[in-house]
Parts: sequence; C-alpha cells; structure tokens
Amino acid sequence: MAENRQSTVVITGASSGVGLYAAKAMAKRGWHVVMACRNQPKAHQAAKELDIPMDSYSVMQLDLGSLDSVQQFVKDFRASGRSLDALLCNAAIYMPLLKEPLRSPEGYELTMTTNHLGHFLLCNLMLEDLKNSTAPEKRLVILGTVTHNPDELGGKIPPRPDLGKLEGFVNGFKDPITMIDGKKFEPVKAYKDSKVCNVLTMRELHRRYHETTGIIFTSLYPGCVADTPLFRNHYPLFQKIFPWFQKNITGGYVSQELAGERVADVVTKPEYGQSGSYWSWGNRQKKGREAFVQKVSPQARDEEKAERMWDLSEQLVGLV
Ligand code: NAP
Repeated sequence: MAENRQSTVVITGASSGVGLYAAKAMAKRGWHVVMACRNQPKAHQAAKELDIPMDSYSVMQLDLGSLDSVQQFVKDFRASGRSLDALLCNAAIYMPLLKEPLRSPEGYELTMTTNHLGHFLLCNLMLEDLKNSTAPEKRLVILGTVTHNPDELGGKIPPRPDLGKLEGFVNGFKDPITMIDGKKFEPVKAYKDSKVCNVLTMRELHRRYHETTGIIFTSLYPGCVADTPLFRNHYPLFQKIFPWFQKNITGGYVSQELAGERVADVVTKPEYGQSGSYWSWGNRQKKGREAFVQKVSPQARDEEKAERMWDLSEQLVGLV
C-alpha cells in the first residue's frame, strides 16, 4: 500500500509578501506549511486573512537575526516530530534609509545576519532533517533577486554588491566592522551583498551535498514584486512610485500571488528539479512567460569566493 504521508515545508518569513503567498500556494498543493516567523501573532493573522486552512499550517518562532533563535527553532522543529521534505529560505530585511548599522545579539551587522548568516546556519543544521526525510525527493530553495546581478538591467543601479576579499568576515564582522568587504556602511549594498551570499550558499550546498544526499538545491528570482512590505522602510513616495514604475515602464511587476505560485513551482514541480540552478522568468513579465535557468552574477559564480564565504560563515555562526 502507498504511504499516506503529508509532505512538510518550512518557509522562513511566511508572515508577509512572497513567503506568505508561497505558504498559501503550498497549502493549496496539499503540503503542511511550517511558517517560521519572528512574529507569531502576525503570522497567524496573515494566514487567516489569506484563508489558508488552519489544519494545513503551523507557526513556529524563528528570528533569523539571532543565531540562538535559529538553534532553538531547529530544536523545536525536531520536537514537533514532523519530517522535513523542503526548506524554503525566503525571509529578508531591506533597510535602505539606515544611517547606522543595527546589530544582532552576537554583534554582527543585522541585514547580513538576517538574510545570510541566519539562513546559512539554518541550512546547515536542517540538512540533517532533509537527509532523514523518507520523501522520494527533497529540496532546499533560497530566494535570490535580480539586484544581486549587475549584468542584468535590474541590477545595474548603484550601489552594486561587492564582497571584496571578505575582509569584514575575516576580521570578525563585529563593531566597528559593518560590511562584508570591510568598507563604509551602505544599507542598500548590505542587502545586495547578503543576496549574493544567498546565491553563493545555494551553489556551494549543491557542490558539497547534492551528489551525496540527492537533495535538490535551487534559487530563484520570482520577478519584481514591487508592492510587498519589503519596501516598508523606504520613503513613502518610493513605495508609491516603484510599483507604478515596474507596472508601466519596465514591465517587471509581478503580483504577490504569482510570485508565491512561482516559488511553490520551484519547490514542488519536476521541471525545476535541476540542482544548482537559479530560475528566472526574466525582467519583462508577459502572460504565460516560461521559466529558464539564468546565469548568476560573476561574483555569485566565483567558486573560490563561494568556498571562502562558506568557511568564514561557518566560523561566524559557530559551526566550527
Ligand atoms: P517582505 O514582505 O518584507 O517579507 C519578508 C519576510 O521576512 C517577512 O515575513 C518578515 O517578517 C520576515 N523577516 C524579516 N526579518 C526576519 C527575521 N529576523 N527573522 C524571521 N523572519 C524575518 O518581503 P518580500 O518582498 O516578500 O521578500 C521575500 C523574499 O523575496 C526576500 O528574500 C527578498 O529578497 C526576495 N525578493 C523580493 C522581491 C521583491 O520585489 N519584493 C524580488 C526578488 C526577491 P515580519 O512580517 O515579521 O516583518
């Protein structure tokens, strides 16, 4: 008799935007969604507002801006007794107007910690859970963005990401260090740098573990989802103009609903089963647009940088 088991996906940052709509799409496809969120009441409320059936999700505490919280989340998840069949690393912060860096409890700059270091630790710890799953196929997907890539139109606007020689990581990444390249604090660049690290992490996971574990590691750019709360910390005028500009001028706009479906496709559909791939639907969104494997930026495909980033991140999150 066929095993009657419901697959489980953990989605980080499922309380808003792309992660919330991906949770809805995954629940619709029959998965159990663990919404891994820093604000549990907000996550419950968001799920309710989107009519996600109550028996298809649970909410668990995870603050990616704190390495202790990541460790605790993994313990809590294991105690829940669920098997992990897919991990979706989606959460991120973007704080373009900051003058001074915020810090994690460990003293690391907060954008890089939330978007990269927290996810890096989570991926490394949860590899074990994915390996233990009896699902025929296991996937780990990390959200990318076009702004990681200056070779693409959407990535040409300065400041451009630049990891340098990772001097900031080499020197411990604590005050007075604020950036991975050890240079002056630039909040927009901190976001872009962290997204380069996300893509490097995916590629390095693939290189290290795909063959031995069979886990499929991918990343994607779902399109410009210009009206998610990601831009809540930008000027109010930007928040008005940006979606209009993406809808009417660049044609890059994608609704949260469509972005959520695209993410769910990459997590579940056989055609997205090529490990190590970065999926995109391009910059101009036409109806029925097909996904393709997109070349990542020169930095994000630099294997030497990936290894170095991996080793230093392991040290910063306490894995070695
Ligand atoms: P969003 O609406 O702001 O959602 C971000 C999510 O991350 C929220 O649920 C937020 O929680 C959560 N989060 C933030 N800090 C966290 C922390 N310390 N611990 C746990 N969760 C935390 O943004 P979005 O636009 O959906 O972005 C989601 C992903 O898509 C990001 O990785 C982003 O880089 C990527 N992306 C977005 C676009 C776009 O155009 N919007 C384009 C390409 C890629 P709260 O609800 O508590 O704030």
